[in-house]
Amino acid sequence: MTTCQNKVSYYEPNGRFAATFTSVADDYREVFVLCGNTDPHGARAICETCASNPQVMQEIQRHEETAAKDNAWLRRSAGWGEI
Ligand SMILES: [Zn+2]
Repeated sequence: MTTCQNKVSYYEPNGRFAATFTSVADDYREVFVLCGNTDPHGARAICETCASNPQVMQEIQRHEETAAKDNAWLRRSAGWGEI
């Protein structure tokens, strides 16, 4: 699939939640994920450039459908199991 060198930024909690909201900036860190990689939430990170490009989005969708098919096949074949 198309590789893109853009990075998508996420604000992730730093792990410690402050009692007040006065220091939000201290409690979140900016995380950069390369476009097309898995984001901190397990979804796919897509930069704005790709998100606005129908061709790229189509390619990503096709890629994910193929992956879903592979997973379904694996699940099925696991059921048959050669013991
Ligand atoms: Zn991109």
